[in-house]
Amino acid sequence: MKILVLNCGSSSVKFQFIETDLERIDRNQDRLLARGQIERIGTHEAVVSCQADARTVRDVGVDILDHHAAIAKVLSLLQHVGALADPKQIEAVGHRVVHGGVFHNSQRITPEVLRKIEDASELAPLHNPHNLNGYHICTQLFPDRPQVAVFDTAFHQSMPTRAFLYALPYEYFRRHRIRRYGFHGTSHRYVAFRFRQLSGRSKEDTNLITCHLGNGCSLTAIQFGRSVDTSMGFTPLEGLVMGTRAGDVDPSILLHLMAKQEMSSHEVATLLNRHSGLYGISGESNDMRELLESSHQGHERARIAIDVFCYRLRKYIGAYTAVLGHVHALIFTGGIGENAPHVRELACQNLGEMGYELDLQKNNRAVGVEAEISAPASRAQIYVIPTNEELLIARDTYRTIEGLENP
Ligand code: ADP
Repeated sequence: MKILVLNCGSSSVKFQFIETDLERIDRNQDRLLARGQIERIGTHEAVVSCQADARTVRDVGVDILDHHAAIAKVLSLLQHVGALADPKQIEAVGHRVVHGGVFHNSQRITPEVLRKIEDASELAPLHNPHNLNGYHICTQLFPDRPQVAVFDTAFHQSMPTRAFLYALPYEYFRRHRIRRYGFHGTSHRYVAFRFRQLSGRSKEDTNLITCHLGNGCSLTAIQFGRSVDTSMGFTPLEGLVMGTRAGDVDPSILLHLMAKQEMSSHEVATLLNRHSGLYGISGESNDMRELLESSHQGHERARIAIDVFCYRLRKYIGAYTAVLGHVHALIFTGGIGENAPHVRELACQNLGEMGYELDLQKNNRAVGVEAEISAPASRAQIYVIPTNEELLIARDTYRTIEGLENP
């Protein structure tokens, strides 16, 4: 089945065109026919790019005034690079949707499913409306094609009450839906599946800790294929230190700042989401690659930022080891997890007794590739597995339409 995967943001559309079916999934041989993105939508200065096997297109200063024009452009780009002869060849569309509320699985979008996604939109007002806009435009462009929503939150709906409930008065959960939801589910699920494929282990006998370390960062404890805890919460702000987000802080800090510095809730939100994390501590960059370089050159605050980042990560690995009891593998993914051996080394420091021991040479060699990086004596295996959220969206779209279970 040939599937168009769309990730529609406020001013961008990322896309992949993927051919997949059951046999290809089993062999990990899905075909990426083309990929690309359109940025700065809503301006006369949009940047469009698309790559296929044979051809690459990149244009700057393009007139793309709304998302409808952007998705129409996606179709013409796919034709231009030779991935598509006719839009009729698109058999289904898979959409990344950030918040799925109470959905446990990917869903074919029907009027009822749409209502429930809209209902969850107040929990992700910056993302869901744009994701759904992509659906509405595709409904006009391909009225007879099935469309599937794949949610960042769905994988974590299996968390038990003790993991998702905040210790606030219970009615805040019941009436206002204040609970931990978790995000990055598509990435955690993809690397867990890929680990089982690589190691030949089954879901039923595998406990994993997956670390997605990109601009946003989160960690998940996976027991027998189900997420039982994850570090992001009601929003993606909780948990690990991230590029510009603080992760865990004492909530009283916010009250203190609002009272003493007269900061508004908007200013506090900006502080926590955009001015904190690696960027806030280093005062220099949110980009781990730049900070590693800068720390290497003796910049002290870059070193401290990396240290705080890795220390928090190590504490969470310890906590999730306690959650799971026995861990078969620790998996690193995301731009940092896949490419920064130094971060993995600091995160695993002193964890030998707990069962995690890196092979430093293998760790240093593993940059951007699938690799096992644990020492032979390590109780748990340690892996680097590059994530592929778009591929999982395509696979879920296929399986949902065919009525197959999403593993
Ligand atoms: P997003 O969450 O936006 O998808 P990515 O998964 O691409 O982000 O991760 C971005 C992060 O990965 C940045 O902090 C970037 O510096 C880091 N990164 C990418 N390549 C490297 C590298 N070779 N070494 C260290 N960090 C890297």
